[in-house]
Amino acid sequence: MALLHNQSFETFSDFKAQLHQWALSDNFAIKIEKSDRSRCVIKCRSAADCPFHVRATWKPEQERVIITALNPIHTTCLGAAPVPRASCSQFTYLREAVPKILAITGKTKPKEIQQAMQLHHKVSISYAVAHKVLQYLQGQDIGLERAQFRLLLLYIQKLHEIDEEGHFHLSACSESGRFQRLFISPSASRHLFQRSPKLIAADGTFTKSKFRQTLLFAVGIDGDNKVILLAWSLVESENQDSWEYFLHNLIR
Ligand SMILES: [Zn+2]
Repeated sequence: MALLHNQSFETFSDFKAQLHQWALSDNFAIKIEKSDRSRCVIKCRSAADCPFHVRATWKPEQERVIITALNPIHTTCLGAAPVPRASCSQFTYLREAVPKILAITGKTKPKEIQQAMQLHHKVSISYAVAHKVLQYLQGQDIGLERAQFRLLLLYIQKLHEIDEEGHFHLSACSESGRFQRLFISPSASRHLFQRSPKLIAADGTFTKSKFRQTLLFAVGIDGDNKVILLAWSLVESENQDSWEYFLHNLIR
């Protein structure tokens, strides 16, 4: 976990991420003394005269960031009061590290973030910090989801390209461009349905995303008696209109 002299990193961000992990696990606070394109100097935040320091330098000939000076020993800061709140840089580290070890949903609790950091990085963080990171990530979540809806048009175009005989349909508001409905039936499913149009079940369920939608789907049975998904659709809710949209596209 501790950094080493001459250790190298691809970028300063990688260097800082590992440094934060070290600081969190050994429970000391860091201060960025200097940071520019060619070097980054880190000192101990708890006491101005603590000898702890790390210097990382960009080496153009190697195209790497190298630790060129390091004193890992803290002395004068021993017994110093712990840093009362998360520094900005700790927050920056956590908001990148947490999503890599925990899937954040609307139901995630700060406690789960604390446990995940403990389990994966042997790092204790306070409830307040976990709460702040969670709020940030959940806010991000809705933005990410919105961005994913905007990618649907490209997704459907791609599906048309790679599966010409499938049937894919995206309906969006002509004025605002807002998502309305989506229908997907790959060619393999369509061929099966056209050969033996036995629909054994059609049902709907709600999605668990931020933008609550309804997933409609139909399943059939193939020659081996296996249940096959024939088509699925994302619609606003289960109503006569949305079922008509789905079935109309299915038999098309
Ligand atoms: Zn120190």
